Amino acid sequence: MLRYLKKLESRDLSLTTSMIPLGSCTMKLNSTAEMFPISWPEISKLHPFAPAEQATGYKKICEQLEDWLAEITGFAAISLQPNAGSQGEFAGLLAIREYHASRGEAHRNACLIPTSAHGTNPASAVMAGFKVVSVACLKDGDIDLADLRAKADQHADDLAALMVTYPSTHGVFEPTIREICDIVHAHGGQVFMDGANMNAQCGLCRPGDYGADVCHLNLHKTFCIPHGGGGPGVGPIGVAKHLAPYLPREFILDPTTGKIVFGEGERGKRPPHGNGSAPRHGGGKGGNVAAAPYGSASILTITWMYIQMMGADGLKRASEIAILNANYIAKRLDPYFPVLFKGKHGLVAHECIIDLRQWKSAGIEVEDVAKRLMDYGFHAPTVSWPVAGTMMIEPTESEPKHELDRFCDAMISIHAEMKAIANGKQDRQNNLLKNAPHTARQIGSDKWDRAYSREQAAFPAPWTREHKFWPAVARIDNVYGDRNLFCSCPPGEEFES
Ligand SMILES: *Cc1c(COP(=O)(O)O)cnc(C)c1O
Repeated sequence: MLRYLKKLESRDLSLTTSMIPLGSCTMKLNSTAEMFPISWPEISKLHPFAPAEQATGYKKICEQLEDWLAEITGFAAISLQPNAGSQGEFAGLLAIREYHASRGEAHRNACLIPTSAHGTNPASAVMAGFKVVSVACLKDGDIDLADLRAKADQHADDLAALMVTYPSTHGVFEPTIREICDIVHAHGGQVFMDGANMNAQCGLCRPGDYGADVCHLNLHKTFCIPHGGGGPGVGPIGVAKHLAPYLPREFILDPTTGKIVFGEGERGKRPPHGNGSAPRHGGGKGGNVAAAPYGSASILTITWMYIQMMGADGLKRASEIAILNANYIAKRLDPYFPVLFKGKHGLVAHECIIDLRQWKSAGIEVEDVAKRLMDYGFHAPTVSWPVAGTMMIEPTESEPKHELDRFCDAMISIHAEMKAIANGKQDRQNNLLKNAPHTARQIGSDKWDRAYSREQAAFPAPWTREHKFWPAVARIDNVYGDRNLFCSCPPGEEFES
């Protein structure tokens, strides 16, 4: 079993090998110390419906974490229940829906969403029963304020919410964020902040301060829970005082009847956070989004450890370094791959989008660069989102300068390979990029019919000679794979016999 697991692990490129510069997804260090508690039976073996008196330690961990997240986001109440960012969006929108209904405005169902939004935003809005109204973005990536105003006017009677990401999905701190929130409020709507980019804000600014009414966090992005391979996530939401009653409801399993009871439990009675007058915890009348009161409770300890070890100053420092690192990469790569969006002062937030669309004429797609990075031992950045044909790079604060340089060196070296294709020195089809990634089997084969050497293919940078990560498979047809699902387990009939 151990060998089998190790074999699978060795096929996976993780942070133990190199940085994973996946923009928007914040792949930062999951330190071993943060991971310790989930291996303790006190944490990992407790049933979600264990009697409250057997879970007092857990309760304390959850309450402290709620307090810390409330402080970080500037909100009055937190619910730890949602199991993903998208579920947090859903829970937040349900809270907004209930809030409108409580004021006799249940007809408010228009949800403004900028075209740059993450795909989960419109999906959550539809699930929460809203109709999506898209808002245009300007050429520079910012939300088109004129269009926002027009759409808000047009929907003044039925405006429910705006879903907005800050810093924007274009990797820039939009200076108009307060104005954006004001416009929505003036038209009777609520502001849902997509908090996936909280790694640029922790300790520097708070959604609760600049106009958001509810915000989700991705603990599996900003707060160190590992999420490679789609592992479990936590997407808590923070809400302003007026939305606190509509957070997911508190519920327990009644030990005598075995039934789930909803209630204004003890947590709901705790004193308010800061100067608010709402209970600072979930325990509202809103909809539940998970079958366990605290969602994925055990992994909350990872975030608890992170915040505890970092402290307030450490979290602020992390945001600063994350932004600094992104700007360092943006500056180094800009002469080779133009940075698509920058703020007024030529800076980016905690991630940057580089433009590769101009290489299309040479037959080079952004995917070719992504695959070629594997030969250099790197995981590709986010590809073609939020703009097709670009890469979104997010280094995070976890990476030291030499690792940022190693990544930039790889990209610059690939740039030279691209130039060789563009000016005809390399074949347009049979080249280093189109054939990437190269596997050990190909490189070790007796047959080699490529217009470049094996060394160029598999050892293009000095560090690959010191430690080579071998991709397990060569180029696959992504589109074909997405459209044709195969089950790798034996067919049902086999079990029947
Ligand atoms: C990751 C992400 C989400 C969704 O979070 P999940 O945990 O993947 O559901 C939403 N918005 C943005 C901008 C994101 O990056």
